[in-house]
Amino acid sequence: MINFNQPHLTGKEAHYMYEAVFAGKLSGNGKFTKRCQAWFEERYGFRKTLLTTSGTDALEMCAMLCDLKPGDEVIVPSYTFVSTALAFLREGAKVVFADSMQRNPNLDAETLEALITPKTKVIVPVHYAGVACDMDAIMTVAEKHHLLVVEDAAQAIDSYYLSRKSEVESQKPLGGIGHLAAFSFHETKNITAGGEGGLLVVNDERFVRRAEIIWEKGTNRAEFFRGEVNKYGWVDMGSSFLPSEVNAAFLWAQLENIDDIQAKRKSLWETYYERLAPIAVKGAFTLPDIPSYATNNAHMFYIVLPSLEARTAFIKYLKENGVGAVFHYLSLHSSEYYKSRHDGRALPQCDRYADCLVRLPLFYDLTIEEVNHICDLIDTYFQ
Ligand SMILES: *Cc1c(COP(=O)(O)O)cnc(C)c1O
Repeated sequence: MINFNQPHLTGKEAHYMYEAVFAGKLSGNGKFTKRCQAWFEERYGFRKTLLTTSGTDALEMCAMLCDLKPGDEVIVPSYTFVSTALAFLREGAKVVFADSMQRNPNLDAETLEALITPKTKVIVPVHYAGVACDMDAIMTVAEKHHLLVVEDAAQAIDSYYLSRKSEVESQKPLGGIGHLAAFSFHETKNITAGGEGGLLVVNDERFVRRAEIIWEKGTNRAEFFRGEVNKYGWVDMGSSFLPSEVNAAFLWAQLENIDDIQAKRKSLWETYYERLAPIAVKGAFTLPDIPSYATNNAHMFYIVLPSLEARTAFIKYLKENGVGAVFHYLSLHSSEYYKSRHDGRALPQCDRYADCLVRLPLFYDLTIEEVNHICDLIDTYFQ
């Protein structure tokens, strides 16, 4: 059986975790946490980063930092993970769901402006499969209407957006464009912090101090430890968002190997693409779309079939042949929890991806031979 996903170990995880355990400091914000945060800030130029216990927690911190009032509206794609919407709903906001594009599941920037009302406060683009949303277009709409932008970059580690905003084209890391961003290090993502983990990115200076306070249970403890204040206390809202040093140590082993991890994933992704392209042209399915403004971080390899029936039969065929292929999100706007709260608009592209998209196995320890085997099976199926 070829599983859909399998977490990868670089070999150093247990070593660094052992080091953390015997350093005698296990709680958060220790040596490994600081090392990981500095790495993100240096490699991607993020203004300030804070490790969190999950991507969901990083999104919740973003939502808290947006300082929403009841009735404020937040625009979120309907084709995403529950946490993208839930984080803002918990803050009393109204979630307004946006449709996906025809070309890929990302939020459609062209129809975005029609969703903005005087109550809109935040736009949350999700970089699905690590492929950038059209951030120039989204940031232009946000600036025009004085809105905050929170990037759900959970799947988007080491991926970039090619901005055409200024005269010279510039390459910006995803998570480094909006005011705030969230990454996930869940075991299904490209790199993991030992199963669960995340990162809050603060790009807008105005949020840096408050982010640290929210991270540390509403206290100014981080400032105290830096010697900036001589006692610390309760100063704001917050929760316990910092991971243990053991998780940070695990993450460090993965960050050290990120270039190797990314190169391997990309070679697997490209093998899929090259092998499946001749089948796709016959019209059986469509391949992933990477716009000219986006890079590929090989987070996921998906194909889109023509109907729910076609997808169900295809997944069944692969399963019978020992391959774990899986569908992805169900439309949040028609979920059991949200459908009665939704404003009734149809979101046809989102529904199409919910019905027709299927993800193929893609993980570091998958071999090129296995990818070729899966492609052979797919070739046989569509003949
Ligand atoms: C994985 C994921 C999340 C949640 O991250 P966790 O670390 O599992 O909490 C949020 N949004 C998207 C788009 C994701 O893929």
